[in-house]
Amino acid sequence: MLTTHPFDDDKLKEECALFGIFNHSDAAALTVLGLHALQHRGQEATGIVSCDGERFHAHRALGQVGDTFADPRVMAGLTGRAAIGHNRYATTGDTVLRNVQPLYFDFDFGGFALGHNGNLTNALQLRRQMIRRGSLFQSTTDTETIFHLMAVARGGSVLDRVVEALRQVEGAYSLVGLAAGMLIGVRDPYGVRPLVLGRIGDSFVLASETCALDIIGATCVRDIEPGELVVIDSSGVHSIRPFAPAERRFCIFEYIYFARPDSRFENRSVYEARERIGAELAREAGVDADLVVPVPDSGVPAAIGYAKQSGIPFSLGIIRNHYVGRTFIEPTDHIRHFGVKLKHNANSAVLKGKRVVLVDDSIVRGTTSTKIVEMVRQAGAAEVHMRISSPPTTHSCFYGIDTPEQEKLLAHRYSVEEMAKFIGADSLAFISIDGLYRAMGETARNAQHPQFCDACFTGDYPIALTDRDQRATQPELSLLFEGGRA
Ligand code: SF4
Repeated sequence: MLTTHPFDDDKLKEECALFGIFNHSDAAALTVLGLHALQHRGQEATGIVSCDGERFHAHRALGQVGDTFADPRVMAGLTGRAAIGHNRYATTGDTVLRNVQPLYFDFDFGGFALGHNGNLTNALQLRRQMIRRGSLFQSTTDTETIFHLMAVARGGSVLDRVVEALRQVEGAYSLVGLAAGMLIGVRDPYGVRPLVLGRIGDSFVLASETCALDIIGATCVRDIEPGELVVIDSSGVHSIRPFAPAERRFCIFEYIYFARPDSRFENRSVYEARERIGAELAREAGVDADLVVPVPDSGVPAAIGYAKQSGIPFSLGIIRNHYVGRTFIEPTDHIRHFGVKLKHNANSAVLKGKRVVLVDDSIVRGTTSTKIVEMVRQAGAAEVHMRISSPPTTHSCFYGIDTPEQEKLLAHRYSVEEMAKFIGADSLAFISIDGLYRAMGETARNAQHPQFCDACFTGDYPIALTDRDQRATQPELSLLFEGGRA
């Protein structure tokens, strides 16, 4: 039996990536490159819809971008000067082709395709209402709800219908939409998930991260603002703000872990933010040690910041194997035990006899941390002090990040001292929430009006969790919407 994630690396997972381009002769080919740069935001399925005048062409598949679009016959079919693309991560079981985006439907005004990064928190409620009114859903994604709301909207134009639909949804969404002669980009009023606008020659580009602009040689124009909807057509970029204003709550975890370090949001470099977080961590949780060692790759920038601030030498005491496939033969428990070694190996030439500060970005269930600490000890480290560049993850995310249920989060179950014992470290410390905000250039977290979404550390959810609350009282409803995240 084939399976995915047999050797779970115990990380939260970003669920989707977006890319869109308007008015370019190589629209589909540039979309492939953009999606390739955004592969870290979703590895299990990918798709592109292109538009050639009034005609739409789609290719969607389970798998990664490089494999899916390597066939020249696939690319030859994706004609037109406009295209949108999507990468998707989903837990095993709900990665079925009908859920792969961009989704596409025919309306009376013509075709419309949509890609979504985020999670709608009232999609289940809306879906139930619409099924009662006669809607026939074809996927289990929350994103499809937007199409059904558009179908019954009173407004005539595609834009009126998108706005009317989005005014009824709650949750986190960045969207790219494609209609004949028009590319649309939207961020929810809180701006939880990212979306940036770029330019290459006379063409405009939308992407989840700036690294997708870099790969095609586009320049970054700006972030799409929270609550902003942009329409890109033959006359340029038009911006409207059709929603009631809300407090800006960009996901702070994008800076800690999800985004690529060479991306920028809100005029901040993700790499520099991670270094500053590491430096702040060293100020807050210093320890006598001989070496600072990152858990690669995501722990590297914070470890560099920690080393610079503390004056303790940085060294690559753990080597990562980049060639671990996503799909493996189902392992036996005995083989599974070695799983972490497929991805990481401790370098005893560096670690032997040393007091080591291990820097990682988060602890979710604690399974991988436990194995890495054990591996570093076996390589001869005299002491292992774990430092984490996020506050303890005590709550689940409902805004487009795949997280285990709260009961499975180690920080929900245990105190920091208990967690240190659990993972077998000599000491364990996390950056404080105010330290994290200082690293982001704020003086502290504003408790009344937090400057970011930090709900997985604080439980302070900025957007109503309507479906979760309904599920709590009517558990049978969850069956209706298994795997509905985008
Ligand atoms: Fe990001 Fe955490 Fe908020 Fe989810 S709950 S959007 S991961 S900060």
